[in-house]
Amino acid sequence: MEKSRTRTSNVDPNVPSSGRIYDFLLNGRDHYPADKAAARKVLERVPEAHYMAHANRVFLQRAAGRIARAGVRQFIDIGSGIPTAWNTHEVVQVVDPQARVVYVDNDPVVLEMSQEILSRNGESNAVYVDADVREPDSILTNPAVRDLIDFDQPVGYMHIAIWHFAADEYDPWGLVTRYLDAVPSGSYLALSHVTSDDQKPDKVQRFKDVYANTPSGVHFRTREEINRFFTGLEFLPPYEGAEPALSFVDKWGSKNPNVVDPSHTWLPCGVARKP
Ligand code: SAH
Repeated sequence: MEKSRTRTSNVDPNVPSSGRIYDFLLNGRDHYPADKAAARKVLERVPEAHYMAHANRVFLQRAAGRIARAGVRQFIDIGSGIPTAWNTHEVVQVVDPQARVVYVDNDPVVLEMSQEILSRNGESNAVYVDADVREPDSILTNPAVRDLIDFDQPVGYMHIAIWHFAADEYDPWGLVTRYLDAVPSGSYLALSHVTSDDQKPDKVQRFKDVYANTPSGVHFRTREEINRFFTGLEFLPPYEGAEPALSFVDKWGSKNPNVVDPSHTWLPCGVARKP
């Protein structure tokens, strides 16, 4: 595969994956030709998908930093993706070098790249777990997770661009509640999710067609449905002077929230505290 470091054997390179399509959109190197072809097909109809991926990644970094500055020292980042620059542990360890991060993903390429990078850097406060976001118990009871995370202390959950890969039949809202029930008051949820509200139907259809060839498909939800992930939590204001509420990835934490990028309305997001 061109320019790639990827060499995992336990994966069918002909089946595109959400993580590797995203890697292409972020200008990464860890994808196969099938992923690149899928991403190109999206970009033909939705050129702003590049901006979308980058704005989402910036949201992840801003949200992780914000939660760390609120005093949280342990994070569980689910659907963490192929590591690029400024992963969650790099961001939060600027605030406190002892901050601990568990990464969870179910893509074998993500697994291999994450393990390689974490071991190369000799990281002791970051681990990678191969598990499925739709199975909270397999994550919450995993010995490697329990070794690193103290569930009596607040936890920062990073659920960034992950739940649109779970169909309604899994009850993503109930699963998010399950994650939050396992952690004490003062914990945080950061979440972003694609919406088709305000989008042109042919663009949305192009996403659905391309992702229909991936194992999970993509499940657009309304802003109202995305807001429901935060039920019972207290939103942080997304930027200075804003009301505490759901926002969009390009605006959250921005110093110039009125300057929006071309992908603006695709990705609602929020950061909220468990009271
Ligand atoms: N959170 C990162 C990556 C988002 S891409 C970021 O926002 O930058 C979505 C990631 O979710 C991919 O790496 C994909 O492999 C992973 N993923 C998709 N379905 C999953 C599932 N059921 N369980 C765990 N990870 C999943």
